[in-house]
Parts: sequence; structure tokens; C-alpha cells
Amino acid sequence: MFKKILIANRGDVALRVLRACKEMQIPTVIVHSTADADSMPVRLADESVCIGPPSSSESYLNVAAIITAAGITGADAVHPGVGFLAENADFADIVAAHGLTFIGPEPRHIRSMGDKVEAKITAAEAGLPLVPGSPGAVPTLADARRIGAEVGYPLLVKAASGGGGRGMKVAETADRLAEAFSSARSEAKAAFGDDTVYLERYLGQPRHIEVQVIADSHGNVVHLGERECSIQRRHQKLFEEAPSPALSPEQRQEIGTIAAEATRHMGYLGVGTMEFLYENGAFFFIEMNTRLQVEHPITEEITGVDLVREQVRIAAGMPLSFTQEDITFTGHAIECRINAEHPETFMPTPGKVTAFHAAGGPGIRVDSCLYTGYSIPPFYDSLIAKLIVYGDDRDKCLARLRRALAEFIVEPIPTTLGLHERLVDAEAVKDGSYNIRWLEEKFLAGDDSGTAE
Ligand code: ADP
Repeated sequence: MFKKILIANRGDVALRVLRACKEMQIPTVIVHSTADADSMPVRLADESVCIGPPSSSESYLNVAAIITAAGITGADAVHPGVGFLAENADFADIVAAHGLTFIGPEPRHIRSMGDKVEAKITAAEAGLPLVPGSPGAVPTLADARRIGAEVGYPLLVKAASGGGGRGMKVAETADRLAEAFSSARSEAKAAFGDDTVYLERYLGQPRHIEVQVIADSHGNVVHLGERECSIQRRHQKLFEEAPSPALSPEQRQEIGTIAAEATRHMGYLGVGTMEFLYENGAFFFIEMNTRLQVEHPITEEITGVDLVREQVRIAAGMPLSFTQEDITFTGHAIECRINAEHPETFMPTPGKVTAFHAAGGPGIRVDSCLYTGYSIPPFYDSLIAKLIVYGDDRDKCLARLRRALAEFIVEPIPTTLGLHERLVDAEAVKDGSYNIRWLEEKFLAGDDSGTAE
């Protein structure tokens, strides 16, 4: 096992990794920017190293400073957390070149899944069902027109290097293709420095359902079921639940087995998430995330698996501590992302928290770095707390969530707590009939009813 783990991240995810390390009795080093000197992970880690000013490019993305901090403190492994360098294959290579272990997948998998065109080709080879579309990159408008005629409209133009929903444009009809093609390319060029695009049929009312997979270096591959993440705003997830209210146990077993088999086929190592769109009973692979997901706790709640602990064990060459047969899905879990954002305008609301009280009691888990007196810095992601609620079944989980939200206090800054309080009482949430369009097109427009046609 590792002698000391360096955590190259901040916020609630740094704390999550720190907690797993402490329970495994592995000493920790946290690196941080000057803006995070008073943060919870810095207070709780065994050692901390300030690696730069607030700007992420000079601190949390400063590879030389992170590697130097590992050298100075004698760390022998690096956990990248979620975001920042977690899906940066070059960073994983550099970590290994310095004789350290990167707690994550192999660089080749990070690289191939990071390029969405290559990812789709790899996924197809591994037997995953794809959204109908172009077989690879689409270089010219003439190619796009030809493929459009075959696949049909509406058509989505997507950036190969895309992320966070950027570089994605819908062409409703063939005469809108030229405009969508050129604007997706220029947005992709500006955002990612790469204007490679590909085409997919644009699904009208899908759900976003993702499957958690985990693989060790001894040939063991297990799926841990799905997470339903359809409640999204601007492609950002806000509310996630496991299991999905849309799937039967047979469908869960089927898509889980397909995802696990694809993971095995790829020779993948560590934790990963295969994201699918689900419409009319069919799954369509859209991408694989080669890291821990923000919403991983809901999977932990219904399976009893500690995903971070398993990540560390796998990186140390140990086998998974369970088999597929050991995994059962018990009860229901929901995660609400509490962001320092205005609940209606979604503008970030950084600032000092003068009163913080987390919900508690049976079935409640709060992953958060907040404390009374903490100043939320304006430089980073606005996620400040994850409220994770477990119940024996979905109705009990929703009832518990309602009472937990009423207990939760973050003052005086506006947060998305109020949005979640309204969400939990929405008809489409209560009956589970929402899809990825529901939040923006119906709920935020004042209609909380379901989406059933
Ligand atoms: P990113 O990496 O930018 O997040 P994804 O491919 O994961 O891009 O897609 C993000 C979101 O965009 C999905 O969760 C879904 O809401 C929407 N989306 C992606 N592909 C399609 C599609 N073919 N049809 C309809 N919606 C899509």
C-alpha cells in the first residue's frame, strides 16, 4: 500500500479522497492555491503545500508545482480527484515518469476516451450501442450533408474534444445544417483549440442514464448499476438518483452486463462511467468518463461499496474486494447538488457563509467543505455541498429528502437549495417521468407536470 497520497484537487472532492485515505490509515498531502489556505481539506490533511495563486492555471493545473510538492513531501501516489487534471493523460504520464502512481486509469484509456470520435469507435468495437451518426470525424460540409441524408434530421453536430456541452449545435432540418456545422466548428476551435466535429441523430426526449464500472489489474470487472442524471441545466447535472425510475431489474442487469463486458474488452483499469442516452427502451452510448464522478455517492449508498477506497486499492495492485455476485442494489439514493448560485438566475454567488447547518439524522450524508465563517472563493466551480439521501424505497427517499432540505441552512448567500425544495414536490419528480429536457423546457418555465407523451 502507498506510504503517502498527494491529493491534487480542492473542495468537496478533495475532502472525499482525504476521508477515504484516513480510513485506510494512509497519510495525506493536500496541495492548494492561496485562495484555499483556510479550506477544510487543508485543515484536515496531514500536510499541505501551497502551490500557487488563485488562478487554476497557476495552481491546480500547475503540473510542475504538483510534482515538486510530491517530491518534497515524499508522497508515492497522486489522486487527481474530479476535474482539473483528472482526465489529463499527459499528467498521468508525467506522474508515472516521476516514479509516482497515478490513482486512475491508464493514460491510453484517458486519451482514447477524451477524444469523442475515437471513444465512439472504441465503444462500437467493444459492443456498445451508439447513437446513429457519422462513423468518425466529418471534415467537410459536403460530407455532413451526405451523412445527414442517411441518418436523418434533427441532427446534432458535436465537437470531438467537447465537454460541458460546448461545441454542440442542433440542425433541425437539412437547410440548417450549414449554419450548425460552421458554428459548432468555430465554438469548438475557440473552446478546445480543435475544430474536429462529428454527427449524431438528435434524440428528442431522452433520459441520461450512466453505468458505473470498476476493474482491477487481476482481470476482475464489475458493474455497480446505473445512475439517472436527467435533471440537468445547460448539460450540468443538478439532481441524480439511483436506481433510475425508468429501468426494470432486467434492463439494469442487461445494460450493466453490456457496460462491464465493454470495460473488459478495452482492458480498462480503475473506476469509469459509461454515459448513455435512453429513449423508447433503447440505450445509446455517448461517452465514457475515465474518473470518479461527482454523483458517485448515490452508487455507494445503494451498493455499500466505497469507490475511492477501491480506486486506491486498485492503483496499489490489489484485487477488487467484491465480485459481481456480491453486489446487490438495496434501497434508493438521491443526490442534490447545492451550488453557490442564485436559484433562479443561476449566477454564481460567492461570499462569506455566516451560518451553516447541515441536515442530519437517519439516511443523510453531506459531502461538503462548508463551515460557518468560510468564504466561498469566486475562482472555482460553484458546487459547495452534496446532500445525499438514502431511503428503503424511492417514496421514503423523497420524503426524507424533503425534510432534510428543510433542515439545511447556508446563509446569507443564495444557493440552489430553494430550487431543490421546489423540485422535490414537482409532479414529474414524484412520478419519475422527467427526461433531459424537462428541467429547462418545463419546470423552469413554470410547468412541473410529467413528460409522458
Ligand atoms: P459533454 O462532454 O459536452 O458533456 P455529452 O456528449 O456528454 O457532451 O452530452 C452532454 C449532454 O448533451 C447529454 O447529457 C445530453 O443532455 C445532450 N446530448 C448529447 N448527445 C445528444 C444527442 N445525440 N441527442 C440529444 N441530446 C444529446
